[in-house]
Amino acid sequence: MNKTPEPGENRSLNFIETIIEEDLKNNTYGGRVHTRFPPEPNGYLHIGHAKSICLNFGLAEKYRGLCNLRFDDTNPEAEDVEYVDSIKEDVQWLGFQWHKELYASDYFEQLYDWAEMFIREGKAYVDDQPADVISQQRKSPTEPGVESPFRDRSIEENLDLFRRMRKGEFAEGEKVLRAKIDMRSPNMHMRDPIMYRILHKEHHRTGNQWCLYPMYDWAHGQSDFLEGITHSICTLEFEVHRPLYDWFLDQITTDTYRPKQREMARLNLNYTIMSKRKLLKLVKEGYVKGWDDPRMPTISGFRRRGYTPESIRTFSERIGVAKRENVIDTAFLEHCLREDLNKRARRVMGVINPVKITITNFPEGQTEWLDAVNNPEDPEAGTRKVPFSGTLYIEQDDFMEEPHNKFYRLSPGREVRLRYAYFITCREVLKDDQGNITEILCTYDPETRGGDSPDGRKVKATLHWVSAEHALKTEVRLYDRLFRNENPDDVSEGEDFTVHLNTDSLQIKEAFTEPSVQGAKPLTHYQFERLGYFNVDPDSTPEKMVFNRTVTLKDDWAKIASKS
Ligand code: ATP
Ligand code: MG
Repeated sequence: MNKTPEPGENRSLNFIETIIEEDLKNNTYGGRVHTRFPPEPNGYLHIGHAKSICLNFGLAEKYRGLCNLRFDDTNPEAEDVEYVDSIKEDVQWLGFQWHKELYASDYFEQLYDWAEMFIREGKAYVDDQPADVISQQRKSPTEPGVESPFRDRSIEENLDLFRRMRKGEFAEGEKVLRAKIDMRSPNMHMRDPIMYRILHKEHHRTGNQWCLYPMYDWAHGQSDFLEGITHSICTLEFEVHRPLYDWFLDQITTDTYRPKQREMARLNLNYTIMSKRKLLKLVKEGYVKGWDDPRMPTISGFRRRGYTPESIRTFSERIGVAKRENVIDTAFLEHCLREDLNKRARRVMGVINPVKITITNFPEGQTEWLDAVNNPEDPEAGTRKVPFSGTLYIEQDDFMEEPHNKFYRLSPGREVRLRYAYFITCREVLKDDQGNITEILCTYDPETRGGDSPDGRKVKATLHWVSAEHALKTEVRLYDRLFRNENPDDVSEGEDFTVHLNTDSLQIKEAFTEPSVQGAKPLTHYQFERLGYFNVDPDSTPEKMVFNRTVTLKDDWAKIASKS
């Protein structure tokens, strides 16, 4: 486990910043810094993408450069406008604005022209063999590959076949276009990689205009080049693709300008999966309620859960940019979240597992409106009035009829403080026939209004509470981690990651909250005192407010960090 330290304000440059500063010093790109974030619109973005977004857009901000949002839409089978829209929403929610919104499909014609040029120059050929035969012939890095029997087709035949591929004369899988590089290369990606495949599929932007689609390697570097990208950042698994990235660029241009691919470690989080394919499975097979289910590691899931964009940006900044794979502790992400919510979330009181308290000496039918501080961390947040009356709810856990010696909260004969209100003392416990507690009778001390005793009397506990008659009946959704295993991909033969799903990851409860939250807009953040941070779920209606528990108050990270 990577125990991420919390660097101070003046952290040193990460390796990509070092490269950029070197390029700026050497005037490699005439002082330009131009990055891009290139998602494939085949799913919703996850927290790993957030890291890439923060990095690419963040570098552009830092060096007064530009960052494009480029959809890598080269595979119509899995792509959809729903995903395009969600990606734009997520990038903007994180607080970034792209220089241009672009699509690899904008370059299909140009890519096609270059491919014909390759054919004319003897650098590409049409192969009639099926994909599995092609991949078998590649062999392994330690033995040379086998050349395709179609490798030496004439330029005329190749051009004719390629044009007919474009016209739709062949079925899917019947033919591909391959770059003619080196079947003996120790780098498997250089063994005549496929540039185009046939797909008779409607594309979400180009419709049925094309049935010939470029492969990632063929589209990506050329798109970077066409956009004037300077630093093209991807994840480590593409390191072995880099020679091919460079080879393609060398064939299409004699410019001195070249976008440069740089690889960084992907973000991995424990107890989390980060693959769109697997996340899609969770959605499709109904393990979660949708891409934005608050248990999902998607950006939309985190948003709905109550994460703030600032907390995710801070997290991305602090984990830094690594050159080697590692796993980050989810507790650290939660730590960044708590730190941010502590500053911005208004405090309110709510009770999830209520027990009724009656204050026997409180004037019947009377309500007092007490001053409560909205956020002790933010004086500008002001105060609000909270209703107090003779019938209250407190948390069942805050009462013990026969307390052990570490229990300082309410118990028979004991005095405690009610937050912002009064000291109360437990006088009697009422029960039903089965022995369940139905009501606790208390008295209050009118002299302790506001929570302090004029005679200096101390109490050992302060409890949250709500006035029963004024409380709103709300729904709260309490979440636990979605996976039980730290590494959900750690499975036996024949199993998949779903075996590690936590079947108890969602608990729905009724709760009572103070009336001040009524009508709060979806996504509003609160701290329910002593219970955690909550936010308003979009399922809320004026009749019934719904809250998600974003995170509890207990910071596991602080504990982990202090041990390391
Ligand atoms: P997945 O495997 O989850 O489907 P992907 O890499 O196929 O992800 P893309 O849409 O191609 O998804 O990714 C867009 C960008 O986000 C790429 O530059 C990719 O390198 C980056 N990215 C994806 N996952 C991560 C991650 N876990 N950490 C950092 N960057 C990531
Ligand atoms: Mg991808």
